[in-house]
Amino acid sequence: MKDCRKCKTKKELSDFGNYKSSTDGKDSYCKSCRRKINLEAQKKYRSIDSNRKKMYESQSEYISKNKEKVRETQRNKRKKHGKKYALDERKHIDQISDYYISNLLQISMEELNQLKERSPELIEAKRAVIKLKRELGIAKGRPKKY
Ligand SMILES: [Zn+2]
Repeated sequence: MKDCRKCKTKKELSDFGNYKSSTDGKDSYCKSCRRKINLEAQKKYRSIDSNRKKMYESQSEYISKNKEKVRETQRNKRKKHGKKYALDERKHIDQISDYYISNLLQISMEELNQLKERSPELIEAKRAVIKLKRELGIAKGRPKKY
């Protein structure tokens, strides 16, 4: 005789299924309890599975029903990112730092500032040339001497 851990009833050993890894080689739940446990687990698993299926179905249904809308959203996303890129490019053209100019002229920032004091129009002319080259897409990548 053995106690079932679920229904707490003493039952014949033959009422328990075989379970290799237990000490007595028998299941700790009686056969009828084990059946219930298995059924519940199966139900639970099936409901998770069907929920997932439903979710997937409603998603693909939404896409097929709203093809135009979905496409529109994707188009807008592309437009938005494209705009941001154009804006960054604009900024790149408009913002030419003194540091960048000193690099191009291969002089120190101190020397650049001295030059700026002496003849600021030359620095501005240089800045204008860089800007022109950037506008034309010539000045790309690493600063180079020209
Ligand atoms: Zn039981």
